[in-house]
Amino acid sequence: MSASPLAASAPPSNFLTHVIETDLQAGKVVAIVTRFPPEPNGYLHFGHAKSICLNFGLAARYGGLCHLRLDDTNPTKEDQEYVDAIEEAVRWLGFDWGSHHYFASDYFERLYGFAVSLIKEGQAYVDSQSAEEIRARRGTLTQPGEDSPFRNRSIEENLDLFARMRAGEFADGSHVLRAKIDMASPNMNMRDPVLYRIRHAHHHRTGDAWCIYPLYDYAHPLSDAIEGISHSICTLEFEDHRPLYDWLVEKVAQAGHFNVRRLPHQYEFARLNLTYVVLSKRKLVELVESGAVAGWDDPRMPTLVAARRRGYTPAGFRRFVEQGGVSKSDGWIDYSVLEQCMRDHLNEVAPRRVAVLDPLKLVVENLEADVVIDCEAPNHPQHPELGKRVLAFTRALWIEREDFMAEPTKGFFRLMPGGRVRLKYGFVAEYVSHATDATGQVSEVRVRIFEDSKSGTPGADSYKVKGVIHWVSAEKAYWTEVRLYDRLFASPLPGGHRPGDPPELERDFKDDLNPQSLTALRVPMESSLSRARAEDRFQFERHGYFVADRVDSQDGAPVFNRTVTLKDSWAVNTEGRHG
Ligand code: ATP
Ligand code: MG
Repeated sequence: MSASPLAASAPPSNFLTHVIETDLQAGKVVAIVTRFPPEPNGYLHFGHAKSICLNFGLAARYGGLCHLRLDDTNPTKEDQEYVDAIEEAVRWLGFDWGSHHYFASDYFERLYGFAVSLIKEGQAYVDSQSAEEIRARRGTLTQPGEDSPFRNRSIEENLDLFARMRAGEFADGSHVLRAKIDMASPNMNMRDPVLYRIRHAHHHRTGDAWCIYPLYDYAHPLSDAIEGISHSICTLEFEDHRPLYDWLVEKVAQAGHFNVRRLPHQYEFARLNLTYVVLSKRKLVELVESGAVAGWDDPRMPTLVAARRRGYTPAGFRRFVEQGGVSKSDGWIDYSVLEQCMRDHLNEVAPRRVAVLDPLKLVVENLEADVVIDCEAPNHPQHPELGKRVLAFTRALWIEREDFMAEPTKGFFRLMPGGRVRLKYGFVAEYVSHATDATGQVSEVRVRIFEDSKSGTPGADSYKVKGVIHWVSAEKAYWTEVRLYDRLFASPLPGGHRPGDPPELERDFKDDLNPQSLTALRVPMESSLSRARAEDRFQFERHGYFVADRVDSQDGAPVFNRTVTLKDSWAVNTEGRHG
């Protein structure tokens, strides 16, 4: 069963919910069965998250089922590694296919049988033209195609040739099986499409059992029909394939293989297009293979494994998909919308912690070196039930370098010569002196604290101080690596073109990689963070949301990835940087 987290809230209606409700009311379908049908030739990306949330979400909403079907009909590009990664990603997003896990390759025998039926009905034939000859006779959008010289082979000859194709008697490319539809159809997909080709290739599941493989356009609708899918939801580029989809399921049903009144129907929705990333497995493979990123799970990648390492949350994705809606025409969503969805969710669930990303030493002169004062800090300002933790306040502290200015600019309210600042959750501190190193950089600031100002909370004492800064005990800090990420691409449309633009507009999308997309730092943070477990999420005050990296963290020694900043820094920066 699709036990979906979407079922809890009532997600907005869209044209698909309308179609389903109409079909249910009219009695056209008895149960809603959808499917998510990835090809195991790469890791899933953010676009797939939309398809997963939609398919599993619709099934859950109408008490139906959603199947996970690995569409493994192309042996040369597919691999078990990808199958495993796909299953893990769907589960991570919070969806469950129950026992409804299928492989198109499990249907090879039945698909073959359907093809034999089509041949017997005179609806398919073996064509012995080369791929080039087939292409040359296909015609154009304005000109009809030409019939193949093999189009009128007898049924007996076709059956014999097809059986021998399967038996391995012929070389790759020497024959194909084609549907016999209409070489003059205005829809190119209906001009006798190829259904099977010979490919002497090892398949990751069926091994060497087959040397003919069905094409996507053939295997996909018939797999839907085999599984009793009611609503087959796919992206808009398959709209022109729908007549072939219908033709195939109807013809195979008429040959007695399916109930003609319970055939699947295809519906197309707009794919997710997101700025600053590429959502195409082909391009993602290129990024991995060229070494532009460290792997499929590099936290800068728009894949679901990478999102998980980055600290993005399943709930954030579900929110994003829901908010984006389901449309019938293509559009673009700005990357910042996805980030905001993550922020909104993390703000609710992430406990607060303190880390100093650019440390400057602060010495409290009126505190002895061996004194430790416990300061309490709430784990979440809006959720007192999450309790408090203790921060150790000591003579030597780390503060952010930017929180002290030796020559303050106008409007600077934090620590400066002659000034006071509140050390959050601690004390009010007053400037005493500072030192600089040989290069003129400030190397240390010395202050005195007011002991009656403990807690550092504005209003809790009589000190009038404008600036509040965070700090970490230098004696007690946990030092570790944090990785700060920027966008993987510096351009909103990597390669400068949109899908569907003419090829001459296309540049190499890799030219738009952002050379500054990763900064790794070693920084001090409050000691409780040394106990963080892989995938624990926090807000580091003023710095954003962070997650303990699930790959590189050791027990007692986590390293952190910044998931997202606290504010959309790109909204203000975009023009200057990329305009
Ligand atoms: P890619 O173009 O990245 O290679 P694909 O469509 O070839 O993706 P599949 O494994 O065939 O990848 O996709 C599985 C399902 O995910 C399909 O139903 C497909 O329509 C859907 N899907 C793929 N990309 C997107 C996207 N950007 N937005 C929404 N759904 C998508
Ligand atoms: Mg595909």
